[in-house]
Amino acid sequence: MRRIEIVLGDITRERVDAIVNAANSSLLGGGGVDGAIHRAGGPAILEECRRLRATSHPNGVHTGEAVATRAGRLPARWVIHAVGPVWPGPGPEADERRKLLANAYRNSIDLAAELGATSVAMPAISAGIYGWPADDTAVVALDAATEAERAPALVRFVLFSARMHDEFHEAADRLGLDVA
Ligand code: ADP
Repeated sequence: MRRIEIVLGDITRERVDAIVNAANSSLLGGGGVDGAIHRAGGPAILEECRRLRATSHPNGVHTGEAVATRAGRLPARWVIHAVGPVWPGPGPEADERRKLLANAYRNSIDLAAELGATSVAMPAISAGIYGWPADDTAVVALDAATEAERAPALVRFVLFSARMHDEFHEAADRLGLDVA
């Protein structure tokens, strides 16, 4: 039985098995939630990201994909670095990139399950610096969480602002989801 939660909070404080980072494709640091995760988790996370770049991911992580590292000093065991698309503005390009946003959520949830995580906390991917409309990322996120074939027993969306928290609850209502 999969449980979906929507809470207001700072994802770096989550006591779950895995947290998801809205990373950029270089894996080498950014602002927003990425900056907060690296600050709170300490240098071990960036060191591991650099190792991934030097070995399995010389060109970084493609948009829509996700990779895992350990979580340094964070309470979580893993950080899953997912790369969402930049919002291109309304139009056909947005429809294409929306699939990549869905992939970013889906691949993160799938990777958490593959690692053996029983709980995963996720931010609103692409909804900050990358400019994706909040109501749309909420629908894409909740669809991914409900439709993922394999997922941790708990998928918790941790939203950093009251507005984003409301958007996720409104999207859940529109989708008729039973969320806590
Ligand atoms: P992107 O580049 O994918 O847009 P951002 O990090 O800029 O990523 O923003 C993604 C979302 O994460 C935004 O809604 C932002 O408010 C939120 N965010 C920023 N810091 C935190 C945090 N500590 N915990 C949870 N969410 C956060």
